[in-house]
Amino acid sequence: MSEADVVIVGGGSAGCALAGRLSEDPKVRVLLLEAGPKDTDPWIHLPVGYFRNILSPLSWGFETEPDAGMNGRSIVWPRGKVLGGSSSINGLIYIRGQAEDYDHWRQLGNAGWSFTDVLPYFRRAEHQERGESELHGTGGPLGVSDLRLKHPLCEAFLEAAAQAGYPRIDDFNGPSQEGASYYQLTTRNGVRSSAASAYLGPAKRRPNLRVETDALATRVLIENGRAVGVAYLKHGLPYEARARREVVLSGGAINSPQLLQLSGIGPATLSKEHGIAVVRDLPGVGENLQDHYQTRVIWRCTQRITHNEIRHSLWQQAKVGAEWLFRRSGAATIGAGEAGLFCRSAPEVATADLQFHFMPVSFERSADGNSIVIHDWPGFNNTINQSRPESRGWIRLKSGDPRLHPLIQPNYLSADYDRRAIVEGVRIARRITGMPALRPFAAAEYGPGAGVDSDDEILDYARAKGGTIYHPVGTCKMGPATDRGAVVDPELRVHGVSGLRVVDASVMPTLVSGNTNAAAIMIGEKAAGLVRATLA
Ligand SMILES: Cc1cc2nc3c(=O)[nH]c(=O)nc-3n(C[C@H](O)[C@H](O)[C@H](O)COP(=O)(O)OP(=O)(O)OC[C@H]3O[C@@H](n4cnc5c(N)ncnc54)[C@H](O)[C@@H]3O)c2cc1C
Repeated sequence: MSEADVVIVGGGSAGCALAGRLSEDPKVRVLLLEAGPKDTDPWIHLPVGYFRNILSPLSWGFETEPDAGMNGRSIVWPRGKVLGGSSSINGLIYIRGQAEDYDHWRQLGNAGWSFTDVLPYFRRAEHQERGESELHGTGGPLGVSDLRLKHPLCEAFLEAAAQAGYPRIDDFNGPSQEGASYYQLTTRNGVRSSAASAYLGPAKRRPNLRVETDALATRVLIENGRAVGVAYLKHGLPYEARARREVVLSGGAINSPQLLQLSGIGPATLSKEHGIAVVRDLPGVGENLQDHYQTRVIWRCTQRITHNEIRHSLWQQAKVGAEWLFRRSGAATIGAGEAGLFCRSAPEVATADLQFHFMPVSFERSADGNSIVIHDWPGFNNTINQSRPESRGWIRLKSGDPRLHPLIQPNYLSADYDRRAIVEGVRIARRITGMPALRPFAAAEYGPGAGVDSDDEILDYARAKGGTIYHPVGTCKMGPATDRGAVVDPELRVHGVSGLRVVDASVMPTLVSGNTNAAAIMIGEKAAGLVRATLA
């Protein structure tokens, strides 16, 4: 049996930030348990390795239940199962969301979470390549850099967006998100800056931090209403880790609610159904699931200048590899989106509610869904998602066996607003491609394709072909005790169980308007202060 002041379950975006920051104090002993292996696979650190990693053993490979919103399909939900968690396999895009997202959290009763409150943690985390400013930090562990490739098709997209009435802006994380720009990435000198490399790298030699990989937490140990440790499996054998002060769950939006439910903290009916003793009836555990659902518009390109050509030429691949090895630049430094756009789906919407990821590449899933097939013709695509969906799903135990995945029901496109927004997004993507700057590059629309024009036809395409862009949140929602659905309070303490917090993307009460890694890291940074305050 091992012992520490704070036992953290999950070495992902938030967990690494928390462990790194807490262990800066040599008096605090921290144990970090991570179900996956060390992050030694070189593909993790090469940005373009993203396209390989998402469907590799570095992912949990969750699968959703059949979802009516996707015409009854089940889809794979990758999540990182490796040190660094999803930040080790994600698309590297660095986006915080809008100030209004955090102000909304505050309005829901979460004191300390307005944008003004959280901005210092975003800045503290960041090493912004462009330098320091009111909104950006330097000297933090997380590298944030401009894209090292300016592709002619991305330039054409940005120009076409301006022609369509969406002006070019300099920084999606600047004073206003609305407009078109290049994405920034969580990279440092052309190499992925995961939460593990950022926060655990510098902490490696600290004697007060122990990181155990291949350690699957199976249950929170509770004595007299207080969390006192964690049971876990390592190489199939059972172990226990005792926490002198606190247990923190940072397993992410799927695993944290699952672990609470396995520990008898969740809807009492669910615990009873699986023969688990009820510790605390918290109906919100696993509910309030929100995710960004994407649909992709794909064009054949008139010129052989897309990344597709690289994929199908060994010579070009060697060139790209050499460019990365010797100059840390070129096509190997890209993430899951190169240029982007944030805009409104309707004039009456208060702030941008649509996000676009534009890439000079085109692909689709193989028929079995297990791999990504890059087309053998030149192509580009624009991926659209609604930033603040109203659809809500859930995560529930399938079994009391902690080694089995839980049930995931996203309920995509179940809200009318979400359906309208995605249809409008496809129309906007088409309008931009029709502008003089981009039109000469577009040979024909491959998907949805000619003839898919009415709202119903476009919606059906979105249902048939769309999927996750990997941003599940909300399943251990933060909120005051008066909110029956809240799982943690604004200090991230689980309601009704002492010594237990949840610190990861699951605590977001609502999705932020953008990719979720920066916000998850901010949550880890802020939690370090909250935990430290109670240890003092
Ligand atoms: C394929 C993909 C692409 C993405 N692209 C982007 C992007 O481009 N930009 C962006 O901002 N966001 C992106 N995201 C989302 C972003 O990475 C996540 O929102 C963020 O990493 C979530 O952080 P987290 O700390 O909540 O969970 P995670 O980072 O997922 O960490 C959870 C950790 O806990 C571990 N764990 C879980 N259960 C247990 C257990 N029982 N015992 C021990 N350990 C456990 C997991 O193995 C994992 O390491 C992407 C995500 C994915 C999966």
